[in-house]
Parts: sequence; C-alpha cells; structure tokens
Amino acid sequence: MSKFYITNAIPYVNAKPHIGHALEFCQSDAIARYHRLIGDDTMFMMGADENSLKNVQAAEKAGEKTTDFVSKLTQIFLDLNKELNISNDEFIKTSTLEHFKGAEKFWGDCDKNGDIYKKSYQGLYCVGCEEFKRESDLILGEIREGEKVGYGCCPEHPNSELQLIEEENYFFKLSRYQKDLEKLIKSGRIKIVPESRKNEVLSFIKMGLEDFSISRSVERAKGWGVPVPGDDSQVMYVWFDALVNYITGLGYGEDSEFFKKFWLENKNILHVIGKGIIKFHAIYWPAMLMSVGIMPENLEILAHGYITVNGQKISKSLGNVIDPIEIINKYGTDATRYYLLRAIPTTGDGDFSFPHFEEIYNADLANGIGNLVSRVLAMSNKYFGGKVSKIQNDPSSHPLKGAPSLNAWKESCDEMKKSFELYKLNDALFFINQFIQSVNIYIDNRKPWVLAKEGKVEEMAWVLYGLLESIRQLSWMIYPFIPETANKIREQLGVEKIDENNFDFYNEIKWGGLKTGTKIGKIEALFPRIEN
Ligand SMILES: [Zn+2]
Repeated sequence: MSKFYITNAIPYVNAKPHIGHALEFCQSDAIARYHRLIGDDTMFMMGADENSLKNVQAAEKAGEKTTDFVSKLTQIFLDLNKELNISNDEFIKTSTLEHFKGAEKFWGDCDKNGDIYKKSYQGLYCVGCEEFKRESDLILGEIREGEKVGYGCCPEHPNSELQLIEEENYFFKLSRYQKDLEKLIKSGRIKIVPESRKNEVLSFIKMGLEDFSISRSVERAKGWGVPVPGDDSQVMYVWFDALVNYITGLGYGEDSEFFKKFWLENKNILHVIGKGIIKFHAIYWPAMLMSVGIMPENLEILAHGYITVNGQKISKSLGNVIDPIEIINKYGTDATRYYLLRAIPTTGDGDFSFPHFEEIYNADLANGIGNLVSRVLAMSNKYFGGKVSKIQNDPSSHPLKGAPSLNAWKESCDEMKKSFELYKLNDALFFINQFIQSVNIYIDNRKPWVLAKEGKVEEMAWVLYGLLESIRQLSWMIYPFIPETANKIREQLGVEKIDENNFDFYNEIKWGGLKTGTKIGKIEALFPRIEN
C-alpha cells in the first residue's frame, strides 16, 4: 500500500475565508479523497497560521485580544471546512504548545548546522506578504502631483505602505543552498506543478539567493509569535515557523509515529498552495529541510491560481468579496465544490460569477448527471419493476464499456485517472462529462421506449443494464469531487455507499460489477434546475 501525505497552505486568520480559500480546500480534498479511493494510506493536513503580524493588527483593529480573535477566526475556517465537506485528517493551529515546541526544535537544529547567524539589517517590509521586499520585487509607488510618494509598492498589496525597518535579526543561510536547490528542482526531486511555476522558481534562484531574516524584535511582533530559543528579545519570523507546520502537525520533535510514517519514510508528499507563495515552498522550505537533514526523497508542490469575481481582483475596497458560505447556502455543498473544481482550471486563474455558476450548474449538474440518473432509474422502474434487468450476454461486451463508441466508459475512465495523476482536476471532470454525454447519446440512439413498444424485452434489458452500470461507474468517478452526490446515486441505485477508507478499488471499478436483480431505491432529484 502506498502512502500519501497532502497539505494545504495554512491561511492567516486575520479575516474570514474567501472563495480562494474554498478553492484550495476543495482541490486538496478531491486529491485526498481520490488517493483514499485507490487505496493509499492517506494523511490530509490542514491548519491555521495564528502567529502572523497581520492577525495582531486585525485583532487591534477589531478591538479584541489577539488570542481571542485568532481562535474565533480559526473556528470560522473550521466551520467552512465542515460546510464544504472537507475530509482533512488533522488540523494544526500554530499557536499551540506542540507547534511551538516543534518550531523551536527545528530552529535549534538549523542553528546546530551553522545555518543561523545574527546581523543588523535594513529593509522594506510588506505586512500583507509578511516578508521583506527587494527593490526588484517592487512596482512603482503612487504618483501624487508628479512626485513619487514613499517607496515602491508590493505588486500584491499596492494599497498598503511598505515599512522601512532597521533592526538586528537572525538570518538563515539560504545562499548556501542555491546550487542544491537548483539541482533538486531540475532533477524533479522537488517537483513543481505547473511547469510555468517551476521556470519562475528556477529563474528566481538564478538571480542569486540571499540569506533571509528569520526573526523580528518582540516589539515589532507586538509580543506575538514563537520565541527564538535562547533570546527573549526576538520571535521567529512568521514564515519560518509557519512552514514547519507541515511536520509539527505530524508530531515532529516528539518522536511521533506519524512523522516517521508520513514524512521520513514516505515518497509521496504534496503541498497544495497558491501561486503567490511558491517561493516560500519551493525555495525556503526545502533549504530549511536540507539544513535539518530531513529533506524527503520527493517533494511535490502544486500551485493553483487566483480567482477573480466578475473579472475583477477580489478586494475589500471593491466590495466584491464573496463568502463561500453564501454560495453553499444558496446552491448546496456539492454544487459549490463542483463549480470550483470544474470552472476554475486547477493551476490557472479563473473567474467566479453567479450567472456563470448557474449556467454550469444547469448544464452539468441538473441537465447532465442529475437528469441522466433520474432518466435511467425511471426507465428501470417502468420496464423492469425497479430491478436491475437480467441479461443474457457478458457485461464486458457492452458497447458503453468500450469500443466502438469512442467516448465510452473505458476511455473516459483512463483519461480521468491520468488527469488526477497530473493534478488536472478540471480535465478529469471534463472526461467524466464526456462519458455522461455519450450515455445520453446511447439512450437517444437505442430508444428503450421504442424497444418496449415493440416487445423486445431482451434487447431492452441489455440496453438498460449498460445504462445502470454506467451510473454505478459514474458514482465512484465523481466521488472525489462531489462525494455526497456520489453516495446519493448509489443509494438510489441500490448499491452499497462508498466508504473511501474501505473501497475495494480494483474490483469496484471493473465493468459489470452491478448485479442483476438488485432492487433500485427511491428516486430523488439530485440537482433541481435553477429557473430564472
Ligand atoms: Zn505584499
């Protein structure tokens, strides 16, 4: 049995989650569920970055104590997880003692290896990104009456002013790992998806890696964060401790079995992140791991893009922030998951709008899978008394399984699995939809209602068996994306629900697994059409 460890980036909990968070959670969840289905021993880790300076500022603004504020916000993230039906196995909060202990041990190990030193430093800090910016990172500042105001701007946070900071900090010797990092990325031991991000990282490395500050004064951090071991005037730079969550969540520093199993002795580790934080994950993090001597054999990084709303960047000042809960309340959990995974290319940018949402909903869910399921089950009720029809032929010779029709189950299924391996989730859904279309075309060609009129019972049984088996196949194929719907379909079909931790994948996906005589359950509409 293979092992699989998948993580999300831990979000800052300075504000309520937005639709971009929902996207990342759903992507990781679909991947995690798929791996459980195929039988991998899977660990899916999520968490909250509670140590950020951003959180402190947000708490101040809200007039609340930082501890209260972050635990309240973290709870809102946990609530969203529940609403989205996210199947994470663990959730790590970085303000917990376990995380502090792990982060301190990690610091100590880097220090032992001679990778930490102290120096005074002056730089421009973006609180939005929680990082120092180099001149070359910045875009032009605001121009007022022909004069440039302040310094350049952070391209991600053009509206917030950069802070000029001068203090004595601890530094991590990133420069020492430049060659190793380049080698690991080029060889694919650090695998970055998509390729364009990999090239971006390589050209960043080529520009020369500078050591980076990994601490800040307690005053600047407002007393919040993980203390630097042996120096109570400093706390850790938030990214330094945040990255370590991927292993403290597994019990790093406590000789935990999980850490050994899913980190030290695991070849399948995947970090799912947004494209904006690729540098931290593809450069800082592997260098830190090399310093401590626990760089895994393979490290995969999947970077998704950003979501715009009605074509515009999401921002509070534009007032276009959409609460994912609002979408879920209106359309349901699975419809929300479906849109995010189907309409947004997994590694590209995408757009959200309510009209587009409803268009996709009606086309793929109401008219697509929903209609197909109710259509086929209704025919089985009408012509075969609500049972899976008896057949004379070998099910594996059914045309819906394979040739001659090109988009039959076999091909769609292979393409869907391939897409999952390449993390092209939207493509996987494309192939599933293609199969649904083929099944509908098959119904229109074979016209079971005409066969019924002509009294061709045997032929009709054959046609319907293929249709019912197609639906059974569809149920596991859609499971990683819309698990609740998948099990509703299985219930209506009269087959056992999927328990992803105990799914006999290679037997379940064999064509022809549906037993004749199976009693079909009660038919209920899966996705009622949205009428305008
Ligand atoms: Zn920024």
